[in-house]
Amino acid sequence: MSCDYVALSNPGVQLLQPYQAGKPVEELERELGLDEIVKLASNENPIGPSPQVVAAVESGLAGLTRYPDSNGFSLKQRLASRFAVSPQQLTLGNGSNDLLEIVARTFLREGTEAIYSQYGFIVYPLVTRACGAQGVEVPAQEYGHDLQAMADAITDKTRVIFLANPNNPTGTHFSNQAFDAFMARVPDSVIIVLDEAYSEYAAAIDTPLGLQQLSRYPNLIVTRTFSKAYGLAALRVGFAVANPVITDLLNRVRQPFNVSSLAQLAACAALDDEAYLQRTVAVNAAGYQQLTVALDALQVDYIPSVANFITLDLKQDALPVYQALLHEGVIVRPLAVYGLPRHLRVTIGTEAENLRFVAALKKVYS
Ligand SMILES: *Cc1c(COP(=O)(O)O)cnc(C)c1O
Repeated sequence: MSCDYVALSNPGVQLLQPYQAGKPVEELERELGLDEIVKLASNENPIGPSPQVVAAVESGLAGLTRYPDSNGFSLKQRLASRFAVSPQQLTLGNGSNDLLEIVARTFLREGTEAIYSQYGFIVYPLVTRACGAQGVEVPAQEYGHDLQAMADAITDKTRVIFLANPNNPTGTHFSNQAFDAFMARVPDSVIIVLDEAYSEYAAAIDTPLGLQQLSRYPNLIVTRTFSKAYGLAALRVGFAVANPVITDLLNRVRQPFNVSSLAQLAACAALDDEAYLQRTVAVNAAGYQQLTVALDALQVDYIPSVANFITLDLKQDALPVYQALLHEGVIVRPLAVYGLPRHLRVTIGTEAENLRFVAALKKVYS
């Protein structure tokens, strides 16, 4: 090629590696000609969609020629009443991933810094670098966020700190008390993104529920998603809650039609189906029990998790085990890109899926 397009791209983009998603079932079918594949690689909800959500999506099909409601009026009304916030505090996203990117584009640029934890969600360094900002990775403490060290890392250039609670891919969490002690050290000029993609699974334990903290912290942005416990990963919908001034800024950067009309309808229906959420959390708790008992019996180490996945420490290169599991028709997630080459992350599935995984692991790893 006569032109060096890489050199022409933004310096931050030159540093990026594309996000590696969990292997799709269809891809493994094509590659190995297997059927009855079990995918436990992307922390998706294993129980299938709520029938109420399916009906809501069907009801929206006749409206496919129309653009979605750019302001998401109905969904924001539902969210506002459910979570006791005002619609002026809400930003809808094409998944919460979209919101993380919107926050980065709103507050980060060359010469600024964003702080995140080692083993934190990989999208944080991605969106930081894409904006030309400097990412500051703070060493983890027992796989989780070291909040005091993260506060120590704040400089004049810090604009954003990304926190995941619970964290993916480690399943760790921090307490209310630890969060308050951290926030006491953070100046109001530093935006805190509290990513609560898995908070529904951890509601019973002592974690700060960011939505209840917003009135205390003007610099707090809480992000939530419908992709995990609400079971809508395919439709791409999430939301951010922050003070109205920050929300107005995010809304300037947001694409006008970033959440499809089907996704908006589905999210409204999902909020109405409380029983689905309860069943999801119950199936997950039972699955955690089932898997940890089996892992203990196999003497496989794992990081205790409060989310819908478990990260295993195989004490050896995990890639051959990952590949051998693929040949057994079980897709899990290798974590070398997170600097965890000896670990595999397995999403908690249905009882039958968990059994398949345990049988396959027993066969390929001992
Ligand atoms: C899955 C996940 C998300 C969001 O995913 P979306 O599908 O884009 O909503 C955000 N943060 C973490 C830590 C996640 O694991």
